[in-house]
Amino acid sequence: MADVKKNFINGQWVDATSGDTFKNINPARHSDVVGDFPSSGPEDVDNAVQAARDAFKTWSKMPAPARGDILRNIGDVLTERKDELAFEMTREMGKPFFETKGDVQEAIDTAYYAGSETRRLFGHTVPSELPNKFNMSIRRPIGVCGIITAWNFPVAVPTWKMFPALAAGNTAVFKPSEDAPHSGALLVKAFHDAGVPEGVVNLVQGAGAVGEALVSHPGIDAVSFTGSTETGGKIAETCGSLHKRVSLEMGGKNPMIVMDDADLELVLDGILWGAFGTTGQRCTATSRLIIHKAVHDEMLDLLVAAANDLRLGYGNDDNVDVGPVINEKAVTKITGYIDIGKKEGAKVLIGGKRAEGGDLDDGWFIQPTIFTGVNRDMRIAREEIFGPVLSVIKVGSYDEAVEVANDVPYGLSSSIYTQDVTLAFRAMHDIEAGITYINGPTIGAEAHMPFGGVKQTGNGHREGGWEVFDFYTETKTVYVDYSGKLQKAQIDNVD
Ligand code: NAD
Repeated sequence: MADVKKNFINGQWVDATSGDTFKNINPARHSDVVGDFPSSGPEDVDNAVQAARDAFKTWSKMPAPARGDILRNIGDVLTERKDELAFEMTREMGKPFFETKGDVQEAIDTAYYAGSETRRLFGHTVPSELPNKFNMSIRRPIGVCGIITAWNFPVAVPTWKMFPALAAGNTAVFKPSEDAPHSGALLVKAFHDAGVPEGVVNLVQGAGAVGEALVSHPGIDAVSFTGSTETGGKIAETCGSLHKRVSLEMGGKNPMIVMDDADLELVLDGILWGAFGTTGQRCTATSRLIIHKAVHDEMLDLLVAAANDLRLGYGNDDNVDVGPVINEKAVTKITGYIDIGKKEGAKVLIGGKRAEGGDLDDGWFIQPTIFTGVNRDMRIAREEIFGPVLSVIKVGSYDEAVEVANDVPYGLSSSIYTQDVTLAFRAMHDIEAGITYINGPTIGAEAHMPFGGVKQTGNGHREGGWEVFDFYTETKTVYVDYSGKLQKAQIDNVD
C-alpha cells in the first residue's frame, strides 16, 4: 500500500523537494505520533499547479456525466472505507468516532449529489430580441482551483469544494490543514483509487506559507478557503490584487434563541449537541444561548445536570461524548477567553478549566464551560472562542433576543426554539445569518442545501447545494444568428 504521508502530485506520492517534514500527533494522546508529513515549499506548489494545468486540458473536455460517474465511484470507495477513515480522523483531530463517521458520510452524500449535478449544470435559453436568432447561456469550467481548508471537518469540507469543482470540469490543488494532514491524504487516495485521472487532484501538505504560495501562484484561477476570518481577510487581499475569484467560509458566533414557550427538553438536547459537539470547534457551534428570562433558571438547572455528565476522552474509545481541542495554541486561546469572561464579570456556572486527571493529562482537554450573567458587550459574547464554552445571555422579549443575536460581526448559523409559528417565521427573516434552524441547534448542514454565512463569516458565495456550481463555473453567453444577414441589436429592432 502506498505511503500516503507525502504530497500527491501528478498521480505520484512524493516527498517535499526540500525533504523537510512536520510532525502530526494525536491531540488526545500526545505519545501517539500519527506521522511525519511533507513541509512543502513554493517549488512543490509549482509542480502541483503545473500538473493540474496539464490535466485540465483533458478533464475539462470529458462529458460532465462521465466525470459524475467517477464522483460516484469516490462515494462508493468512501463508503467502503468509512470506519477506517473515521478512526484515523479521530486519531489526528479528536472528535469522537461517531462524529468522524458523520464527517465521512457528509463526503459520501456530497459525492453522490455532485455526481448527479453533472447531468444538470443548467444554462438558460431565452428568446432573442431579433428574428431568427437564438440566445443561450452555458457553463464553462474556470481552470485550476486552489483548495485550502481547516482541520475540523477534514474530509467533508474539502469535498464540499472539490466535488463541485471537479464536476464542473476544473482541476485542483488541495492544501489541507497542518493539523489534519492524514485525513486529507486518505481522502486524496480514495479519489485516486476511484479512478480520478493523474493530475486532476494534487495534494501539497504544510502550514500557512504553503497556502500563501498557492493563493498567489499565477497558475491558480480560483481559490476556495475555509478557516478563520483573519486568514480569509489576507487571502481576499491577495486574490483581489491578482483578480482571482475567491470563496471564503470563515468564523462564527452562532446564537440559539430560546423563547418562553420552548420545549425545554428539546432545547437541552440541542444545546448539548450544538455547544459541546466537536468540543465546540465547529464554525456552526452554538456559542451564545440567548434565553427568555421566564425559562432562564429552569433551563440552566437542566443544563448543568446534563453537561456535568458529559464524558471527556479519546474519541476512539467507547462512551466518549467530548474529545480534546486541537492543539496547545487552542488551549491557550480558550483558557484565555475563560479568564477574560471572569474578568468581565460573567459567572462560571460549570467548567472553566483545563480538564485533568488520568488519561486526560496526556491530551489537550478543556472542561465544558458555561458562563451566565453575560451581557452582549462582553468579549465572550462577541468573539469566536472555538472551544467548549457557552455564553448565556438573558433577554426579556423576542425583539431583544433578535437584537442581541444580530449584534456581532459574524453571521453563519442561528437557531430559535419556539412553539409560536409567527415568531418562527419572523426569525427566518429577522436573524442576520446564512442559516437559521427552527427548533433545532445551530449545527446539522445537509449536502444538497446551500451553506455559508453573511457579514464577516463569508464573502457572498455558498458551498453545498446548487449554488456552489455558480462559484466553480463561468457563464458563457452564446448568440446564434441564423437569419443569414447582419442584425444589429438595439438598432434594427427599435423603430
Ligand atoms: P486558519 O485560518 O488558521 O487555517 C485554515 C487554513 O488556512 C489552514 O490550512 C492553514 O494552513 C491555512 N492558512 C493559514 N494562513 C494562511 C495564509 N496566510 N494564506 C493561505 N492559507 C493560510 O483556521 P483554523 O484554525 O484551521 O480553523 C478554525 C477556523 O475555521 C475557525 O474560525 C472556524 O470558524 C473556521 N471554519 C469555518 C467554516 C465555515 O464553513 N464557515 C468551517 C470550518 C471552520
